[in-house]
Parts: sequence; C-alpha cells; structure tokens
Amino acid sequence: MSENTNPWQIQLRAVKEVSEMMKLPPAFYEVVSRPKAILHVSLPVKMDDGSVRNFDAFRIHHNDARGPTKGGIRYHPHLDLDMEMALAAWMTWKCAVVDIPLGGAKGGITCDVKHLSRGELERLTRAYTAAIARFIGVDLDIPAPDVYTDPQIMAWIADEYYRCTGHITPGIITGKPVALGGSLGRAGATGRGSFLAATEASKVFGTPIQGGSVSIQGFGNAAYYAAVDFHNAGAKIVAASDTRGGVYNRGGIDPRKLIEHKRLTGSVVGFPGCSEIGSNEPLALDCDILVPAAMEGMITAKNARDVKAKLVVEAANGPTTPEADRILDEMGVKVLPDIYANAGGVTVSYFEWAQNRMGYYWTEDEVDERLGRVMKRSFKDVLEQAERLGVNMRYGAYALALGRVEEAMRLRGII
Ligand code: NAD
Repeated sequence: MSENTNPWQIQLRAVKEVSEMMKLPPAFYEVVSRPKAILHVSLPVKMDDGSVRNFDAFRIHHNDARGPTKGGIRYHPHLDLDMEMALAAWMTWKCAVVDIPLGGAKGGITCDVKHLSRGELERLTRAYTAAIARFIGVDLDIPAPDVYTDPQIMAWIADEYYRCTGHITPGIITGKPVALGGSLGRAGATGRGSFLAATEASKVFGTPIQGGSVSIQGFGNAAYYAAVDFHNAGAKIVAASDTRGGVYNRGGIDPRKLIEHKRLTGSVVGFPGCSEIGSNEPLALDCDILVPAAMEGMITAKNARDVKAKLVVEAANGPTTPEADRILDEMGVKVLPDIYANAGGVTVSYFEWAQNRMGYYWTEDEVDERLGRVMKRSFKDVLEQAERLGVNMRYGAYALALGRVEEAMRLRGII
C-alpha cells in the first residue's frame, strides 16, 4: 500500500490516536476533526498586460476554543484545501503547546509569486484582504506571514484592512514591518525558536550544539535565522538547499554570506567553496542535527532510513510522515515536532499582537528573553507528557495541546 502523505489525514490520525490514548471524550474528536469555518474566494485581478486573471484563495478557522484564531498566509502555486486545513489545525495545536491564548487558522492564495510583478502582487494581496476582511479581525482571526509572503505583504494587508473598516488596528495582522507596529525580533523568531528548541534538547539528549554539525533543507526565512543562531553558538552549518539545489561544506558555511549569495543570485547554488548537492540531499547527510525547513512531506518511508542525524528539528510544518516517524523512532533518532519546534514564530506574533493592543513596545532583548522562557518551559512540558505516556516527543506535544484545547472546550460548554 502506498504511503498516505495527505497532511490533513496525517494530522487527523495523530489527533485520534492521542485522544484515545488520553481517553478524551468522543465529542472532542467530533469537533476538532473538521474546521470551524472555511472561506473560499476567487479574486479577479487586473494584470499588467491588461488581462484579468482569477486567483483561487482560502481562509480557514480551525478552532477558537482558547482564543481568536491565528495563522499564516501562504502564496503557493500548489495550494489545496486539505493542506490548508492541516496547517490551520497545526496552528491550534501549536498555540496550545506553547500556551498562548489563541486558536488555529491558515490562509493562502494559489499563485506563483515568481511570475507576478510587484504591482500585480500588491493588487492580488489587496483583493484577497478585501475578500476576507469580514472573516478576520483583531478579536477574531489574526493572519501572519508564511511561505512566499513577507512583511511588505503584511503591510499591504494592514493598509487595505484599515481602508475596508475605517479603523487603524495594527493588531489585525502580525509579521508587519517594525515601522507599522511590527515587533522587534519577529523576523527571526521562528528560526530562533527552532534553535532554542535544539538547545533544550541538547541538554537532555546530549546532541552537541557547540562543535556539532547542522544540515538544513530549505534555506528560507525560518532556516536562515536558525542557521545564524547555530553558527553563533559554535555549530557548523555543513549543508543548505533550496528548490534549485544545495551546497555542502564539511568545514562549515557562514549563513550570513550564504544569504547574501542567495539574495544576489536567487539561490544557494554556486556558493563559493562548496560542493553542489541536490535539494533533498541535506536530509541524508552525516550530521548531528537535521533541520527540515522547506515544505511538508519531505521525510517519508522511502528516505527516513537515510537520515544520519541524531536530532531532527522540524522548522517546517509537517515535514515528516507518520511512517517516517516510526522508522526514525526505531533508529533512535529524536524528533522535535513542528508544533513545538517552529512555534517561536507564532509566539512572537502573539507578542506583536499584545504590544499592538497595549500600544506599548518592548525592546528586542525583552522579546528574546520572553521567547526563551516560552521555548524552555514548553520543552519541559512536552518532555513530561512524552515520559508520562511513554511516547515520542511528537505524541507528547499533541497530548499537551489536546489536553489544553479539550479543557477550554469543556469549560466553554462546547463539549
Ligand atoms: P520561505 O519561503 O522563506 O523558505 C522556504 C525555502 O524552502 C525556500 O528557500 C525554498 O526554495 C525552499 N524549498 C521549497 N521546497 C524545497 C525542496 N523541495 N527542497 C529544498 N528546498 C525547498 O518559507 P519559510 O517561511 O521559511 O517557511 C518554511 C517552512 O517553515 C514552511 O513549512 C512553513 O510553514 C514553516 N514555518 C514558517 C514560519 C515563519 O514564521 N516563516 C513559522 C512556522 C513555520
């Protein structure tokens, strides 16, 4: 039988198994096994050549038991509803793992940003914002960046939302430029969170950071900031890749120079002093720590046995299939699951939202210090659950999250 790589089904399976293990009431699974609401829109946009193109777009609320929903906006040529629903649900679990008072959402537009001019990108973003304006809100649903969206796109969304509603409410969206009420420390928060997660794991599992080697698949926003922190802590970045290919240097790569090269050329490929490797090769390299930071479904039953790292830090959402997880467990590889390991981004997004609502802003040191506390405390919470139930860190993280969401649903009378 071929491996099930449907992210929504994978997510459901984990939730069902852990709900049963924890003996949660069946009503809990009944509610969380479908999103609370889905908005599906098509966006007619005037292109530079005068033609009109329709773009397919979504916004999904998965669960708001613990607070307003929160989740990124992804621009990608291959979006599908099941993928978006899974990403929304992972946000519910992620916010609960790190114990921030928010639920889960996700959204996106089916488009290829590489084939849009800046003007087309702005018009598309504004059309999307106007179409979802009644479905988002500072106390309802707060979007943020994800794959192929950035602070500039968040700025256009904020501006269009202010026009639609007549109110300047910066807390409507996070990941904004600092000049528009963005939080210091937000740009690097996901990567920093992944690094902090690895640091906590190294204390318990003994995986070295200083003098250790790190291999990265997908050298984008999340990966870059994680790489800088690993590099500063004395680890060697031995490989990094993107969609066009990858680079390898056993002696270590300076991530700051690598990002400069990527900014200039559009890819890590061709970075001086390195050998060329394939996009997926970082997954199978000899290293202490593997950081999958690209997309879903990258470590599967087919390639899991090739993993040589002792610790996998899931900066990406859903990079490991359940079959691959089982293989990694058997091999003794520790996996820090996405719903913990990349929660630094939503944690600082929450800080941004809180600062916007106070109208009072923290220093970068304050943000970093608070993020450090959250990642440290959450590692301990996940590990405790995993040890109590005799399961791996992924199931430990799900147990923590499901318990917290179930309690909120029960107290509110939803179940
Ligand atoms: P990004 O677009 O900045 O980077 C993604 C990188 O992955 C790009 O360099 C792209 O070329 C590369 N890539 C895509 N497919 C690849 C493949 N098959 N092989 C190798 N490289 C490939 O996106 P990002 O924001 O860094 O997000 C990456 C992952 O992290 C996603 O799963 C996203 O959901 C997750 N994540 C991001 C954030 C955030 O704050 N940015 C927060 C939580 C989770």
